[in-house]
Amino acid sequence: MEKVDLEKLALNGGAPARSKPLPPNYPGAVVMGEEEAAQAAQIIKAQSPFRFYGPDLRNSVTAMERMMEKDLGVPYALGVTSCTAALVVALKALGIGYGDKVIVPSVTFIATAGAVVAANAVPIFADVDDSLNIDPADLERVMDEEVKAIIAVPILGTSCDMDPIMAFAKKHSIHVIEDVAQSCGVRYKGRYAGAIGDVGVFSFQMNKIITAGEGGAVVTHSPEFYERAARYHDQGLLRPQLKERHGLNPDEETAAFIGQNYRMSEITGAVMVEQWGRLNGIVQTMRNHHRYLKQALAAELPDMKFRYSPDEQGDIGSNLGILLDSAEQAKAFTEALNAENIGVHTLYGSRPVYMVPQIFNKRTAEKDNFPFNYPFKNPVVYTEDMCPRAVDLVARMVFLPVSPVLAPSDLDEIVQGITKVYKTLF
Ligand SMILES: *Cc1c(COP(=O)(O)O)cnc(C)c1O
Repeated sequence: MEKVDLEKLALNGGAPARSKPLPPNYPGAVVMGEEEAAQAAQIIKAQSPFRFYGPDLRNSVTAMERMMEKDLGVPYALGVTSCTAALVVALKALGIGYGDKVIVPSVTFIATAGAVVAANAVPIFADVDDSLNIDPADLERVMDEEVKAIIAVPILGTSCDMDPIMAFAKKHSIHVIEDVAQSCGVRYKGRYAGAIGDVGVFSFQMNKIITAGEGGAVVTHSPEFYERAARYHDQGLLRPQLKERHGLNPDEETAAFIGQNYRMSEITGAVMVEQWGRLNGIVQTMRNHHRYLKQALAAELPDMKFRYSPDEQGDIGSNLGILLDSAEQAKAFTEALNAENIGVHTLYGSRPVYMVPQIFNKRTAEKDNFPFNYPFKNPVVYTEDMCPRAVDLVARMVFLPVSPVLAPSDLDEIVQGITKVYKTLF
């Protein structure tokens, strides 16, 4: 029998570091169980799947909102249908629309920029720093009087450097939205991401930290932004339940404006009550796994470079970012590790979000390319190299998803596989 060379890369016919792929990267979904099933069944059995009325209303969305308010330390949380919806609701809560510009990081999921367009505003892009999150030092470069807000996006479990972002926003009297879609549970200097800016938005889509398949939430400290968010998400209404719960008593004749429907269903709310209850446990487990992997890899590979974090204590550990020296190295590293059954990836096709063709070419579903057709005093121009650090870093930062259901043997196989690949290739 031919001897299998354990040190040979799987890519070149060696034995893979793992016999099977890692568990799927859905932290909340992979720990779903009987509890979520019972919660959802309760709503069906009560025949009351709508949050504001029904024969036996269980108030599950309200229960989820209360949990978020208590744990995040905010007075107002609002369940909505998705984080894309939450972003539009947040922008409308802040009064942002046609003729306004919003600063978006150059590395984020397309939804962050897409929601700005859905709100009839135009995204402009700031560069990232070594954390791959928005670089506070680049805000001044893109700032002008037409900019009304910054959307800070802590991607893949690491916070943005919020202090300088908040200071910049204050200095220029603009708003900060935190898009926490990928980083539910992240903290910065002891405060939860989402509860630091003017408005925070969350995603409960399956790929995020906790999930009901779809869903989202808006949180804020401001009664004014809350009321506007609640109205925009519900056809301009502020329902009696929400008025009572928050002690709001506006004059409907003058306060109402035209809204949409982004209401969360009771089934989603019920599942999210259970998932929210699991968040701390999921985060603690991911953090422990992340710490173990990073320490073990640093010991094996002293020259390995990791993603920078402005507050490592607050990271949730959902992904381990490894920085290679070049895009070519990142590609080779990714291919070799995937062959070892250790699934890793670079983000978003290894390019900044503004290089997605529909954004780069400002193509919308509207006539005359509305809202990009606004006659801005300072025209919005996108160029390939406008955020050079994003172009460089996004192509050479490789992410390993860190699942909460990894066993100790999985962790050791990951360390062995990465060590083998790294030592062989570089
Ligand atoms: C996934 C994601 C969104 C959109 O969330 P949905 O709930 O799918 O609408 C927004 N922003 C970021 C950064 C995301 O990763």
